Amino acid sequence: MSEIVNITTDLFRIPLPVTLTDATHGEMREFDLITVQIRDSEGAEGIGYTYVGQSSAAPIYEIIESYKDLLMGEVAGRIEYLWQKMWWALHYSGRGGPVSFAISVIDIALWDLKSRKQNQPLWQFLGGHDPKVKAYAGGIDLYFTIDELLDQTQRNLNNGFHAIKMKVGRKHLSEDVERVAVMREFLGTDFPLMVDANMGWRTDEAIRAARALSKYEIYWLEEPTIPDDFSGYGRIHKEGRVPIAAGENLHTLYEFQHLIEADGVAFLEPDVTNCGGITAWTKVAHVGEANNLPVTSHGVHDLQVHLLAAVSNKSYLEVHGFGLQDYITNPVKVVEGYATAPDRIGHGVNFDWGALGKYRVQRTY
Ligand SMILES: [Mg+2]
Repeated sequence: MSEIVNITTDLFRIPLPVTLTDATHGEMREFDLITVQIRDSEGAEGIGYTYVGQSSAAPIYEIIESYKDLLMGEVAGRIEYLWQKMWWALHYSGRGGPVSFAISVIDIALWDLKSRKQNQPLWQFLGGHDPKVKAYAGGIDLYFTIDELLDQTQRNLNNGFHAIKMKVGRKHLSEDVERVAVMREFLGTDFPLMVDANMGWRTDEAIRAARALSKYEIYWLEEPTIPDDFSGYGRIHKEGRVPIAAGENLHTLYEFQHLIEADGVAFLEPDVTNCGGITAWTKVAHVGEANNLPVTSHGVHDLQVHLLAAVSNKSYLEVHGFGLQDYITNPVKVVEGYATAPDRIGHGVNFDWGALGKYRVQRTY
């Protein structure tokens, strides 16, 4: 049994190649990447990471730093025990938010370390259902012109995607309807087209929008309203008459359970970097299975392809609108609509520390 002997935390502020916009997050020009490297007493290492926009990484970084004393000297393989230790250490001020991001980063590193020590790819270590996972291109394109939207779509088709998500939530519903109609016409019947409102509507607005968009055969409507309104999700799901996807802003297993109980969701969408890591993501997937619900993903596709590959109730992998492809050695590829979980041991997301180096943020806060 090996103990944790070293934990290294880093923060990088990475510029985006183009400015991205959705219904609630304003203009995104950069994102923050937080990485944690954990080493055990036998020299094995694991890497975890999370990302946030709008320079909001500082509290997460500080929480990770505060966890170091709890973790040093502990047995690295006792992940459930360490998860509970972190959860309860900040329970009074935590139970979600930045604490869940911080736990996620560490938890991912611990699972990476443990699966590497077993000489197994993470997706096999976690259950090994099927390495081939259907993938969709997640556009962050709310204020693209229609020509830009179609150009992006053509590029995605050329790059092997057989499913695409676009943003909705423009000022007027008629604009969303026009854009979705153009996309449906361009893509043809039966092509999976998802739409994502990024919480931009109240419940009544969401129901009206869902009904208006339903005739375009949308595969799902994502985050129609704020994540806190579970009963609102239930109403939108029932009265809007389209499948609902949600979860990227849910930060605990319990929140997913509340959403399921409200019958507010058709596609569970946990993000492993903010829901409590692989430990919590897997529980969400299994609760979904028990409720006959599929699980999809949000963000970090190079990592989450493993998680979807591990479970039987998988839906699509989101290939996020921005990724780490310029900063890792083997970014996931989509071929004829599918991503494949790699056979490298652990999660196999190997950072190019040289390429990242110039974006390192020295902590001054
Ligand atoms: Mg989304």
